[in-house]
Amino acid sequence: LFVTFEGGDGSGKSTQSALLQQWLEEEQHREVVLSREPGGTDLGLELREIILHRRGYIAPRAEALIYAADRAHHIATKVRPAIERGAVVLQDRYLDSSIAYQGTGRELDPEEVRRLSLWAAEGLLPDLTVLLDLDPEIGRARLVESRTRYDRLEAEEHDFHSRVREAYLRLAAAEPKRFLVLPADDPVDTIASRVRTRVASLL
Ligand code: C5P
Repeated sequence: LFVTFEGGDGSGKSTQSALLQQWLEEEQHREVVLSREPGGTDLGLELREIILHRRGYIAPRAEALIYAADRAHHIATKVRPAIERGAVVLQDRYLDSSIAYQGTGRELDPEEVRRLSLWAAEGLLPDLTVLLDLDPEIGRARLVESRTRYDRLEAEEHDFHSRVREAYLRLAAAEPKRFLVLPADDPVDTIASRVRTRVASLL
């Protein structure tokens, strides 16, 4: 089973994936692999450092290709083998992030970015994608409270993050079976229990 978490910065993806991991391991006795993009492998960590902390301009298509390289290596060496041995893979960000951020956010063609991602991942789609939907202003305020180091992308204008949010909602509307959209400002436990209910139906 392959479950991805999507949403803007500060929407609670890592909190929710950790809670789901705990439930799957402790109550369902499943092997869980918790991972993320960018940066789910050693190579990916090097690429993450480039994308997020390199000083200066990176051309949008170059950025999209670096994310795709991270994804190709991550899926081939870590995610696919885990799924094949029966583990549940929980992943913080996947191709929908690329479609929303590099596609709509950077104004590349979202359909081309989707094709690039699917090529990189040899067509692998999640069984479930949890979209934690949040007003970008609230997400930003949460980050400011919790962090000291900011990356290139968090410094983008409000307009960029609003476009990303709308892009996510369009993706979810186009694939209602794959997506579970939850308001990210609901209480943590409410969100966690809705996610568990949906995952339980897929186990
Ligand atoms: O979620 P995480 O903190 O790992 O993401 C790091 C940064 O990369 C965030 O600012 C996120 O908005 C950005 N990002 C992106 N395109 C992706 C994935 C992440 O712009 N495909």
